[in-house]
Amino acid sequence: MVDCVFCKIAAKEIQSKIAYEDEEVVAFHDINPQAPIHVLIIPRKHIASLNEATEEDQSLLGKMMLVAQRLAKGLGVAEDGYRLVLNTNRGAGQSVFHIHLHLLGGRPFRWPPG
Ligand code: AMP
Ligand code: ZN
Repeated sequence: MVDCVFCKIAAKEIQSKIAYEDEEVVAFHDINPQAPIHVLIIPRKHIASLNEATEEDQSLLGKMMLVAQRLAKGLGVAEDGYRLVLNTNRGAGQSVFHIHLHLLGGRPFRWPPG
């Protein structure tokens, strides 16, 4: 197995505050939240970034979006609005190379992002 912090979170080898999990996807609260709600949605499958995803991952990527939508509703931010962010590679701010969708909510967000 790759030495990957998010694979270890999915395997419960590293502790996290899990918000949702099933056989394919895990969602947990970000350790350094950038908003009142900041949850990371990851596949259990190790995919380093969106650049490494393939056709085979199509339904998994779609599922991550729908899990984010359900969490946003459950955490009470769906109506006011929330932001999904998927940083890809260092230039975009990716620091953990296991694909993850940020769900941010609970405060206003500006556009364009920084
Ligand atoms: P990114 O910069 O898009 O790669 O996002 C990585 C995110 O993972 C950051 O927001 C970190 O705060 C978060 N993070 C890193 N390690 C952990 C951890 N052990 N538990 C929860 N979140 C983490
Ligand atoms: Zn991984």
